[in-house]
Amino acid sequence: MFIDLHNIFVCLEIKNKVTNDKKLILFGLKSSIFHRLQQEKYCLESMNGVNGPQNGQPHLDHADGQYFLTEAYKVILEEVLCKGTDVKEKVCDWHDPEELSALLDLELREGGESHHQLLQRVRDVAKYSVKTNHPRFFNQLFAGVDYHSLAGRFLTEALNTSQYTYEVAPVFVLMENVMLTKLRSMVGWPQGDGIFCPGGSVSNMYAMNVARYRAYPQVKVQGLWAVPRLAAFTSQEVKYYLCFGGEIPHVHSVEETQDFMQTDLLELLPFLTQGAVPFLVSATSGTTIQGAFDPLDRIADICDKNKLWMHVDAAWGGSVLFSKKHKHLMKGIERADSLAWNPHKMLLAGLQCCVFLLKDNTDLLKQCHCANATYLFQQDKFYDMRMDTGDKSVQCGRKVDCLKLWLMWKAVGTEGLAERVDKVFKLARYLVREMSKREGFQLVNEPQFVNVCFWYIPPSLRGKEGNNDYQEKLSKVAPVIKERMMRKGSMMVGYQPLREKVNFFRMVIISPHISQEDMDFFLDEIERLGKDLYNAL
Ligand SMILES: *Cc1c(COP(=O)(O)O)cnc(C)c1O
Repeated sequence: MFIDLHNIFVCLEIKNKVTNDKKLILFGLKSSIFHRLQQEKYCLESMNGVNGPQNGQPHLDHADGQYFLTEAYKVILEEVLCKGTDVKEKVCDWHDPEELSALLDLELREGGESHHQLLQRVRDVAKYSVKTNHPRFFNQLFAGVDYHSLAGRFLTEALNTSQYTYEVAPVFVLMENVMLTKLRSMVGWPQGDGIFCPGGSVSNMYAMNVARYRAYPQVKVQGLWAVPRLAAFTSQEVKYYLCFGGEIPHVHSVEETQDFMQTDLLELLPFLTQGAVPFLVSATSGTTIQGAFDPLDRIADICDKNKLWMHVDAAWGGSVLFSKKHKHLMKGIERADSLAWNPHKMLLAGLQCCVFLLKDNTDLLKQCHCANATYLFQQDKFYDMRMDTGDKSVQCGRKVDCLKLWLMWKAVGTEGLAERVDKVFKLARYLVREMSKREGFQLVNEPQFVNVCFWYIPPSLRGKEGNNDYQEKLSKVAPVIKERMMRKGSMMVGYQPLREKVNFFRMVIISPHISQEDMDFFLDEIERLGKDLYNAL
């Protein structure tokens, strides 16, 4: 009985491969198919309890590996890219943690698994993961997919190199250089420096390091005791991105009027710091929650006057520089000393793609971070050693993050990227207009950017603003709607409180693949999920 089944399986496989997968065979993988069938035979046998020489053997055969990859790629294409972008599918197949653990069987064992089981693993990982490519995913400051960028990401993974030296990453050292020059030119800096960083938070940390090093170079060898207590300034909403891993007493949050920095307060700088010496102001272009842009010219005046390093955290908002129509939001950016910008957010370059740019062209970044590792940065190399850019980073090995942006940019051009930015602005404006036509949607602020922050007020709470328990009841609306959308899988959008404001939704529009219908759906769905509140609470 077992033998019969096995033979049928083998015949089907051969037929399938020969007729449908000619290309695979042309690429020289033919032998692997037979090899694999051999393995499947063992696996089937082991699954049937006959014997299992396959399990536990190292998978060292290239042809086998390439065959697995081809099959895994098909699963990825189907589950992540076809189903994952299909509006009729769920954004997320939600399960509580214990249930999900049981479904996934994450335990690692002595023996290895069969090709077939492993493909099922790939499928399960895709199935139970959140589809950030889905047109109804509005939960983070990244969303959607760009296929050229994705090709760049696959290529990056396949090449598996490190960005630090020209000898091991010749293409990418040149490419990173071109990307940084191009991005700097958009900021308005004909010269300067920069580096791709693992995250906007790291870019912000670099800004603090370099600013401190410029003011007190001895800090690098003598440590913190060699410098006075220092103070940095940023707005309250983004303080988190400068306080790495905790509250730092000398990061001063500057009150915001509405949502951007109240610059008058900065005038009082020397009096605010209780003896600590101000060294840096970190302005924000596009705050994370409300999408507010600080007035850069005004802040630049204050930094000039007080000789402070002016950093701009444009991790979220930097991409407005592509848009002729909207780049005025960052007017004055050329006066800054440094900038953090995440193309993986609005531009869809894919996680992670973050640049730290500087106006400085005296090699401050390298001097501040270099460790001169002799096994990487030998001084007697046969090529121009300025090509070894790795010492600008506090990392050693560094992922190649420029390729995905470069390939995407090549594909759609600067104009294509500008159109994307303009399109999402238009959609955000559309959403705001549609909201104003419906009862029950109340904006937190008139949006400057593509963040639309709002409260949904269910019918039972309308007109009750004067009641004592109104705010408390309102604060519970967003979490309940969120739970309902997650369990249903219909969409994902974030909510949060902000200082005195109780929980409100933050809708963000990023992906150029979404449309007005998705905006209409969004509003309908919030109403559907929330209209019976507060009765149910
Ligand atoms: C997203 C964001 C960051 C952090 O970027 P990561 O890449 O997530 O570290 C910093 N600042 C602002 C304003 C952001 O929106």
